[in-house]
Amino acid sequence: MHYETIIGLEVHVQLQTKTKIFCGCSSAFNPDNPNVQTCPVCLGLPGSLPVMNRRAFRLSLKTALALGCDIARFTKWDRKQYYYPDLPKGYQISQYDLPFSSNGFVEIDTDVEKGETKKIRLIRAHLEEDAGKNIHDESGRGHDSHVDLNRAGTPLLEIVSQPDMRSATEAKTYLEELKLLLTYIGVSDCNMQEGSLRCDANVNLWVHTDDGQKIATPIVEIKNLNSFRGVEQAIEFEVARQIEDWERTHAKIGDVAKQTRGWDANRGMTFAQRGKEEASDYRYFPDPDLTPVTVSDEFFAEVKAELCELPASRRRRYRVDLGLSHYDADVIVSQGNHFTAYFEQVAKLCGDGKQAANWLTQDVQRELNSRSLSIDAFPISPAVLGDLLKRVAANQLTVKSAREVFDALLAEHDAATDRHEAVELSTALAEKIISDRGLAIVNDTGAITAIIAGAIARNPKPVADFKAGKQAAAGSLIGQIMKELKGADAKVVRQMLVDELSKP
Ligand code: ZN
Ligand code: MN
Repeated sequence: MHYETIIGLEVHVQLQTKTKIFCGCSSAFNPDNPNVQTCPVCLGLPGSLPVMNRRAFRLSLKTALALGCDIARFTKWDRKQYYYPDLPKGYQISQYDLPFSSNGFVEIDTDVEKGETKKIRLIRAHLEEDAGKNIHDESGRGHDSHVDLNRAGTPLLEIVSQPDMRSATEAKTYLEELKLLLTYIGVSDCNMQEGSLRCDANVNLWVHTDDGQKIATPIVEIKNLNSFRGVEQAIEFEVARQIEDWERTHAKIGDVAKQTRGWDANRGMTFAQRGKEEASDYRYFPDPDLTPVTVSDEFFAEVKAELCELPASRRRRYRVDLGLSHYDADVIVSQGNHFTAYFEQVAKLCGDGKQAANWLTQDVQRELNSRSLSIDAFPISPAVLGDLLKRVAANQLTVKSAREVFDALLAEHDAATDRHEAVELSTALAEKIISDRGLAIVNDTGAITAIIAGAIARNPKPVADFKAGKQAAAGSLIGQIMKELKGADAKVVRQMLVDELSKP
């Protein structure tokens, strides 16, 4: 007998609009000043009427297209009735039977080293409004509870997956990939601390018995997970709990009502909240105050044109066209679209994707980390770094010397910053550092021959030793010559020296 873990995720993403979905109130995160971003519409006062935020719909459509969803050209709004203090209207405006999009998928890496991927299918994505926030006194002293409606009416995109994930790690990877995609296309900041990306996990087991049966256990929904770690840990805990539960009760799906559980991050465990409502409990019906939405061909085409290349496609292109490993492609793409733009410019300029990737993932990233900078604020531009690496590719500069120039440029920047001055780290400045320090590889054989001749003239003793058969005597000469030449290729120099000394 063995167990298989079955996971489906419902993700709520806050869309990056200036105002709420059905009124003109600001949708900015503002927990310090409760109830200042409200109006009759989002307070649910009688007689007020909602008007749809066109931008919220546009961002949702853009997301659904990026997720490969089918888009409904006709979609409507429904009221989902439930009573809660943070829901002043007594219902949430959402989409029930005619969501604006369905199907689609997210492709995740299941093994980066081996390049194994898996498609997580989506059921649907729909648009709805967020509720406000209830704030309870957790000190244990008072009995005060407060309601903050700043968040009420914020546009949310709900993305519902099929139960296609088979482990907590897969669920975490799915969420990370979804977040990356949403930030690439610029529809949400996905700030998890501020609740812009929240997730409910539906978890149950398939029990594969020795006599070949497959039994599904009751589904449990873990609500409001707001960190990648939380998702992973909550699912791991829940799987262990459900195995124990199965062994004790042998309860199958349908035997008990679907349960909702919360996640206590401090204690590292899930806890029972309530029996889950069925859709029929919500008494959904079409909202009579909002007109249905029809998507015109023009609007559809316009939004489609705004899409940029998605993370999965970028990874593939870096591997196929630029020869990057799965690992390097993954590291670069996961840094976001500004980082990939920088990388692509460097790779194009130097004509060596692998070399550009090495520098970006090591030297550049190390500096960004130690300076707490984003790539946009990095003092060395992609043009300058690209030019430097082009010299390496053309055998005009060793990697070691390029690193010296890279460090010298940053030192120039730091010194200027200390003097409260601005300095432009230009290609010309890099060139000056190369010539001042004599870092250019000497490919001119005439120059090398002259330096070799000088060294031979100054060192009669080692020369005589070499001619008497002591091969090792060439070593001290090469050392002197390389010191003068700096960037030259040691192998070439050695051969030229030996040739010279071997002349009768
Ligand atoms: Zn409002
Ligand atoms: Mn929802």
